[in-house]
Amino acid sequence: MKLLVDRLKDSPTPLHFDEDRRWRSDLEESIPELAAALAAPIAVDLRVHRMAQDLYLEGSLRGELELECGRCLARYRAPLSESFRLILSPAGSRVPAEPEAAEALARNGMCLGDELETGWYQGHEIELGGFFRELVALAMPVQPVCREDCRGLCPRCGADRNAGPCGCEESRSNKPFAALAALRTRGEG
Ligand SMILES: [Zn+2]
Ligand SMILES: [Zn+2]
Repeated sequence: MKLLVDRLKDSPTPLHFDEDRRWRSDLEESIPELAAALAAPIAVDLRVHRMAQDLYLEGSLRGELELECGRCLARYRAPLSESFRLILSPAGSRVPAEPEAAEALARNGMCLGDELETGWYQGHEIELGGFFRELVALAMPVQPVCREDCRGLCPRCGADRNAGPCGCEESRSNKPFAALAALRTRGEG
């Protein structure tokens, strides 16, 4: 998933990348949870052009996630779609302060800033795999939920409340109405 710097022009060049074996094995090594959650290979469409010395990348990354619902514990699939914009400036003689970023710049020909929207590049080849990995990590939901209205598991009996009400849920939710009905009866009587 390499960007060949010398081929880029002032007008946008459309590019397409599919996940390759190396990217997957790197991901399995560096962030195994993420590799496990990625249920389908990622695909990236982007357009790159030069703006003076800078490289301007814009596109989207797509894939599919398989996650465990935090409420009902069911496994479910969800589409992964993350758009991005990235401006890479030539590193020149600058060296990133963070050792990780410095290593990435030396190894991949690019390193990212804090916001994933800017970075530095050097050399003629830029390996974008690390950037794509950051995008996937960013797209991972912090609290996965199979659907907005998932009712989750009953904290008392552990039944899946999506399948229907369990006994304990009914007795609890009926209480306020029972109390209300009692009040009304007393008021009327
Ligand atoms: Zn759920
Ligand atoms: Zn229950």
